[in-house]
Amino acid sequence: MDLLKTLVDKGLRREMPTRDEALAVLATSDDELMDVVAAAGRVRREWFGRRVKLNYLVNLKSGLCPEDCSYCSQRLGSKAEILKYTWLGADEASKAAAAGVAGGAKRVCLVASGRGPTDRDVDRVSKTIAAIKEQNQGVEVCACLGLLSDGQAERLRAAGADAYNHNLNTSEATYGAITSTHTYADRVETVQQAQAAGMSACSGLIAGMGESDADLVDVVFSLRELDPDSVPVNFLIPFEGTPLAKEWHLTPQRCLRILAMVRFVCPDVEVRLAGGRELHLRTLQPLALHLVNSIFLGDYLTSEGQAGKDDLAMIADAGFEVEEAGTTTLPRHRADALAAGPCGSHASQADGAAATEAGTAGGCGGHDGGGHGGGCGPCGADVAPAREPEPVGATAGGTKAGEGSHADLVSVRRRGAGTDLPPNA
Ligand code: SF4
Repeated sequence: MDLLKTLVDKGLRREMPTRDEALAVLATSDDELMDVVAAAGRVRREWFGRRVKLNYLVNLKSGLCPEDCSYCSQRLGSKAEILKYTWLGADEASKAAAAGVAGGAKRVCLVASGRGPTDRDVDRVSKTIAAIKEQNQGVEVCACLGLLSDGQAERLRAAGADAYNHNLNTSEATYGAITSTHTYADRVETVQQAQAAGMSACSGLIAGMGESDADLVDVVFSLRELDPDSVPVNFLIPFEGTPLAKEWHLTPQRCLRILAMVRFVCPDVEVRLAGGRELHLRTLQPLALHLVNSIFLGDYLTSEGQAGKDDLAMIADAGFEVEEAGTTTLPRHRADALAAGPCGSHASQADGAAATEAGTAGGCGGHDGGGHGGGCGPCGADVAPAREPEPVGATAGGTKAGEGSHADLVSVRRRGAGTDLPPNA
């Protein structure tokens, strides 16, 4: 396929595909799917070899959120029977994090429900970061606390946060249909605050919310422009008690096409397979490792994932290797740019031969175009949209996977942080 040859060539040069090329990946047939995976896998191996980075989620504060993100089991009015608890203490959070690190995680993601942290919350999280770093030498810590106020990104950076997550989730055009309590622009601003403070930005999306192929391409192009170092790709977990509980749009093949498209658009970025992989990729999970270079280990924020030991076995069986502590995840040009500070980090895609086509991220202060936002939409959040979804099967490239409730497939988390039971790591 000429399309795939073009996309591989561009990916190896860090060059932006066109919108039509990205859309064409989503429209490929099942007969072409393995060719798509092989092509995107070539790009993945160029920048990340066969390494898989493991990340571990610690839900510092669960449920009771005043925001109304309609995909989220922790939202205002959610009837999902999830664990609800307020802030974990530093010791408890550190203990949970240690279990993930012992399981092979290089990064611990500290997530708290809510619109955003108070200054007192930033103090609490700062203590937790210190405790985790003291107990686990070399571990990366990512904070995901919602919308940041002035000065909070700098305080988190000073406390030792290596990264900050805030997802864009969906296209700017459809953002208002999934959340009314904050805007897309609010989310973009928080990602930019994290970048300006020198943290590695993590920002991604949720697929399966009834969006069109054009929406998916829009949000991924916006992410490329925003230029985070890591892009988590979540697949909607339709929780009972949330508006989309009975909507299942995704198939394993559709998920692979989405991941391949993200890899072609963001070739040298850590693409992370996040919430919903077990539900929607099912037995095709190992194929996704040819596209992503990062996954979450074990459980998600409010739902349970497959056993951590099964994640490790899957990686080994598929011929990949867990990325070791001490290995730099990002390709050298990105790692160097991040180490150089905010100006350098956002110039990463504009250097050398990479900036050969419009759409690459600009230099310092160059993340102003397009306007994209994200709220918390935690990596691996539990998702379900409020807007009226398109009829199942109407989404271009989407395939009807089934109707009605699949509640039996969604396991609410009952172990790990916030419980007396050991975590799954
Ligand atoms: S995604 Fe974050 S801000 Fe939105 S409802 Fe869920 S916890 Fe609250």
